[in-house]
Amino acid sequence: MEIIDNENQAKEVLKDFNETVLVPTMGNLHKGHLSLVKKAKQVGKTTIVSIYVNPLQFGVNEDLDNYPRTLNDDLLKLEQAGCDFVFCPSDNILENIQKYKAPDISKKLCGKSRPKHFDGVVTIVRKLFEVLNPDYAIFGLKDYQQFLIIKKFFKKHNFQTKILGGPIIREDDGLAMSSRNNLLTPEDRKIAPKIYEQLTLIKNNIKNKTHSELIINSIEAFKENNIFPEYLTILNPETLEDANESDSSVLIAIAVKLGNVRLIDNILIN
Ligand code: AMP
Repeated sequence: MEIIDNENQAKEVLKDFNETVLVPTMGNLHKGHLSLVKKAKQVGKTTIVSIYVNPLQFGVNEDLDNYPRTLNDDLLKLEQAGCDFVFCPSDNILENIQKYKAPDISKKLCGKSRPKHFDGVVTIVRKLFEVLNPDYAIFGLKDYQQFLIIKKFFKKHNFQTKILGGPIIREDDGLAMSSRNNLLTPEDRKIAPKIYEQLTLIKNNIKNKTHSELIINSIEAFKENNIFPEYLTILNPETLEDANESDSSVLIAIAVKLGNVRLIDNILIN
């Protein structure tokens, strides 16, 4: 496994490799990230993982400074996972960076409380694509809105890189794996599995009740545990507009703040 930390080196080294697959991450790797690396190895011949905590996607009162950084551990995990290249740029990557706007669906869901977040995401991912020029890039469906925005953004900008999604990897109790789970207090960690529990309940009852009944029931159940979702909603998975009861394909999406830790999760029904 080769570690690359600057753009010129990346361009020089990678030009001799083909069927390259990029997995962009912010590090603090867990089994969710490693599942994407595994998928990358199945999809192409050369696996590249980028590790960069991107300041552009954090708002002023968000957790940029507290974001867990565990580079040595991450490198060990990637070596074991059979990754070929790790790109870990310094903040120099932001020098003279061209900034981009995310498509309009970025204003929905997480975009309401994190207004510039997805602009920061598309800006850095585009920069990574320009430097690394991957044939494929894999994103987790855990960040479903991000996945959709990236697909739409790179289609519109005519990039050749094929965008793929990987399924959500969960803890045994159902909590979606996330680097932020480690920041939960023990009490909040105990109630966090309620998130997936309610999503599953909604999924299991989607044919029996109206969407608003399902949402109201879940909000009530959350209230009993002092959980007040930022959003809990049933949407069309392509437009992120409210879904109809007759729709066969829907996204059930939630964002919750437990203490200072913001968690998101979803279930996609196809
Ligand atoms: P992050 O380091 O949080 O920016 O995540 C890097 C990539 O890993 C993103 O594409 C995420 O959607 C994906 N990811 C994070 N958590 C999970 C998970 N539990 N299951 C699958 N993919 C995940």
